[in-house]
Amino acid sequence: MRDVELALRRGHLLTLDSHRRIFPEGTLLIDQGRLVDVGPDQALDGTYHARDVVDLAGAVVHPGLVDAHTHVAWHLTRCWKSEEQDPDRLWSELEYPLITHIEPRDEELGTALACAEMALNGTTTFCDTGSCLHLEAAVAGARRIGLRGIMGYLLADVGLDHPRLKLSSRQCAELLERAIVEFPWDEDHLVGCAACLIGMGTASDELLRQARALADDHGVPVVMHESFCALAPHDAQRRYQGRLPVPRLDELGLLDRPTTLVHMNQVTTAELEILREKRPAVVHCPTAGMIYGLGAARHALFPEMLAAGVPVALGTDSCHWGNNFNLWRSLYLAVALHREARARPSVIADATALEMATRHGARAVGLEHAIGSLEPGKQADLVIHRRDRPELWPLLFPVRNLVFGCGGATIDAVLVQGRYVVRNGRLTNVDLEDLLAEAQEAALALAHRIGLVTPL
Ligand SMILES: [Zn+2]
Repeated sequence: MRDVELALRRGHLLTLDSHRRIFPEGTLLIDQGRLVDVGPDQALDGTYHARDVVDLAGAVVHPGLVDAHTHVAWHLTRCWKSEEQDPDRLWSELEYPLITHIEPRDEELGTALACAEMALNGTTTFCDTGSCLHLEAAVAGARRIGLRGIMGYLLADVGLDHPRLKLSSRQCAELLERAIVEFPWDEDHLVGCAACLIGMGTASDELLRQARALADDHGVPVVMHESFCALAPHDAQRRYQGRLPVPRLDELGLLDRPTTLVHMNQVTTAELEILREKRPAVVHCPTAGMIYGLGAARHALFPEMLAAGVPVALGTDSCHWGNNFNLWRSLYLAVALHREARARPSVIADATALEMATRHGARAVGLEHAIGSLEPGKQADLVIHRRDRPELWPLLFPVRNLVFGCGGATIDAVLVQGRYVVRNGRLTNVDLEDLLAEAQEAALALAHRIGLVTPL
């Protein structure tokens, strides 16, 4: 007889394990933040003693979602980009003024607001490519909500023209190392730092090599943007010395160890062969690609990457790229938009999309051994859906219902490391009304400081 803290009984369990096992009447045993056992009620009844037993009465349960690409610290600027904004002038017209004026409290509140939205929509882990100027404050914001996530400094040693970003390769590497040492990233620490870079023309070869070495020394992935949009020939020459991006990264040794490449909307078939061989994680952000019309469906090879065994995760990007932190929208788009672009149904299946948002996301954050599926020994990061909302009914094909139907609307509870961060549809660690009021006040003040004309 095993003693455990929590038993969740009579759940409709989508384990997302390697066999895609589903237990229509299943039990999860949780102790000290981990899943002790997962299986049919019949098999586990009588094998444990739990301090708290919850009868899920058939509620759908699945692993917590992994939003594998975010910019949480700048979330107070959600939807600030106007429809007339020229994407080529986004840095100079919006992001440089923001970098000048953003304060620690703005990053804390932006991160908390982003994490609140993620938690309420079933995301338990997020991954930033490094957006923080005030890292400690932003980490504090994530800790207010209780999510798991990778964060990092905003770092560039070439390509950007703002005084706060004019750092040498050595200064960037020192900041990277300081972040990784101060905030370790592993399954036990909820918030930590990987070797996060903006990438795409803002990191010299020297910085890329140093990031690789630091990541290897500390057992974390390199995380960076890549191949978001088609480049003009002179930009391609400058960034990649006349090579395609993927072979250039391979030459630099980036693909020999865990690396996560975000976007990858513009990939050739020759690059696909290298991805097939090296299998870095790729993060597909359909909302960000579509909002700028960059060809996330027309040109991208995500179905081919999946067929080649490349772990393709999903991200929202958010802030003024995706504008939302509801990963269900990305799941739906990952399924629907490639079918539309290829005029072929089932290019990416619904079950594959759920795997992208869980198992593949776990790989993208370097925690495939610890999260991404409901299996004994893994962290107890999971989502429980309500049974009293219409979006899941009739409940015959729960994966399809989740991907096509409900979004985050049916989420009742979210656990991270065995602790509720959402219960009865409400955040457990903060008063949401207070947070929204704080965020609104700070956003208005920040907009005023950067001279943004708002309709309010
Ligand atoms: Zn991004």
